[in-house]
Amino acid sequence: MWRASSPSNQLRSSTSWNIEWQGAIAGEAQSAQKSVAQEAIEHAQKKRDGKQMDKAEFIAALKIAQDAGCQFVVGVPSLGGSTTAALTPEQTHRLMTDKQAVFAELMGLSAPEYLEWYESQGSVYCSAHTKQGKQCRNFIVGATWLAPDEWKSQRAAGGYCSAHGA
Ligand SMILES: [Zn+2]
Repeated sequence: MWRASSPSNQLRSSTSWNIEWQGAIAGEAQSAQKSVAQEAIEHAQKKRDGKQMDKAEFIAALKIAQDAGCQFVVGVPSLGGSTTAALTPEQTHRLMTDKQAVFAELMGLSAPEYLEWYESQGSVYCSAHTKQGKQCRNFIVGATWLAPDEWKSQRAAGGYCSAHGA
């Protein structure tokens, strides 16, 4: 703490007093913050010790909300943006822990299928194989921007890129 060295320097001494006073206020605010944090910890401990809402209860609560007219929807990352899809209370709960699986399910695809579909933006890879035995990484001519069901049937049917000919 800085202090006035001479009694004649009244301005500085009052500044010093101000600083001390403000310091006391800041100290009070700090201890108030501490007690808020303390309260939060105590609350968390109570929650931990008490009965926590488990999965079944959470889903039951969502069902009550649904019966009251609530709708659960999510934007599934899709072709060029997102597709709005409705969720069941069970899916809503699962969305918090297993997002990709729920997205795949909503699109009618398996998780690996959904990833491939989304990353290729609905395109299907050429059925031909390179000399090294790897699948050609070009897309089948015209097989792009396909909806999940079209993508799945095109993928099952196969086809060729422009280099490998139709
Ligand atoms: Zn090809």
